[in-house]
Amino acid sequence: MNHASQNTIAENIKFIRNRIADIEKKYSRQPGSVQLLAVSKTRPIEDIHAAFAENQLHFGENYLQDALSKIEDNQNQSIEWHFIGPIQSNKTRQIAQNFSWVHTIDRLKIAQRLSEQRDPEQKPLNVCIQVNTSGENSKSGISIEETLTLAKQISELPNIQLRGLMTIPASIDDFEQQRLPFRLLRELKDELQSHSIELDTLSMGMSNDMEAAIAEGSTIVRIGTAIFGQRNKND
Ligand SMILES: *Cc1c(COP(=O)(O)O)cnc(C)c1O
Repeated sequence: MNHASQNTIAENIKFIRNRIADIEKKYSRQPGSVQLLAVSKTRPIEDIHAAFAENQLHFGENYLQDALSKIEDNQNQSIEWHFIGPIQSNKTRQIAQNFSWVHTIDRLKIAQRLSEQRDPEQKPLNVCIQVNTSGENSKSGISIEETLTLAKQISELPNIQLRGLMTIPASIDDFEQQRLPFRLLRELKDELQSHSIELDTLSMGMSNDMEAAIAEGSTIVRIGTAIFGQRNKND
């Protein structure tokens, strides 16, 4: 990566932060209530350095081996790593040991393993349940109907802290259509809270649907392309 690209990353981060602030204002969200998670999957370590130089401290990664080498490289930095990819059960130990957050829990077994494998000396691992808000159009995430039961079970586990819900809707261009799955997720969070499950996080919104997500109450937007540029197809 050359210097121009590093400058571009810095500029993109400033641009996205300003956009988030503008959107917060537009939808009467509290200033600073939406956190920017920089999705650095498949990007080289230099890209993380460029973002870190702009004071970006939260990074999202999907592929464990790729992530571990970046975490190793940044050991002395105050970076918080978020795991946002699909989780195989034989990978939970390294996820439990190396990340601050996991956004993609969709079954109890994975949550149990993460809880067992998290060092009790560490702060609890923050987790979100991934919910399928797009029905047939999406294979990942638990159904809306099953979420309350799973949330209750996860709330009982030590060493992990249930923080909220996450969703990746089917990709759509129309703004009002984009809002619908995000609204479902917000209403589901409200429903869980009415059952005394304390949640403070809605992980929703990516480069193409960030505004719709913030309009519907997102607290973490996961942004890759708009910061780091286009990825290779299938990454
Ligand atoms: C890749 C990815 C993102 C970032 O998507 P962009 O469209 O590049 O902003 C966000 N969330 C998850 C779970 C991802 O896999």
